[in-house]
Amino acid sequence: MSINSYEDMLSDASDVLSKATVNQERLKIPRAITMEEGKVTVVRNFTDITSIINRDPKDVAKFFMKEFGIGVNVDGKRLIINRKISEEDFNNKLEQYLNVYVRCYECNSPDTEILRESRTSLIVCKACGAQHPINMSREIMIDRDEIRENKKYTVTVDSVGRSGEGRAKLYGTSIIVPGVKKGQTVKVLIKRLKEGTAIAEVVKD
Ligand SMILES: [Zn+2]
Repeated sequence: MSINSYEDMLSDASDVLSKATVNQERLKIPRAITMEEGKVTVVRNFTDITSIINRDPKDVAKFFMKEFGIGVNVDGKRLIINRKISEEDFNNKLEQYLNVYVRCYECNSPDTEILRESRTSLIVCKACGAQHPINMSREIMIDRDEIRENKKYTVTVDSVGRSGEGRAKLYGTSIIVPGVKKGQTVKVLIKRLKEGTAIAEVVKD
């Protein structure tokens, strides 16, 4: 191999890496903001979320229709659900959708697309190139119901406290994560858990 082509290879590789980083930064998935209007629940920023994850709002709506077992419809930017659902319940369901249909099974990047093949659909990751058949039971493999020590979870940082510590919430537990920014979605390892508050650190996978 000539020196030139080796250098070309290196610069190609660093291009790919920096693109992946830029994409991660761009793809901050907001939490759903819901509002009750009489007997229905309105998700106010529904298409903001679907456009960031690059999925058809109607497809995402179908998922919620099946999961909640009730009629939903997309109305402009909003999703209307024909019953009362708390914001937390909706966001937990949204997390489930993201885990199964959006986040790369290898690197956790949300920058993916669905490739429909004859029998299966694949998640194709634009950040790392991994391809995996959609695994509907994926959320079952991850501990979803409660926070436990020495387990890993994916959380979105809701706010940053006075000492610069990020705060997230999952399954009713406050999670403190040092060294993160508001809005960031990170994978964390729970180091300590006490009285509904957990201290966690960011991990790679
Ligand atoms: Zn990936």
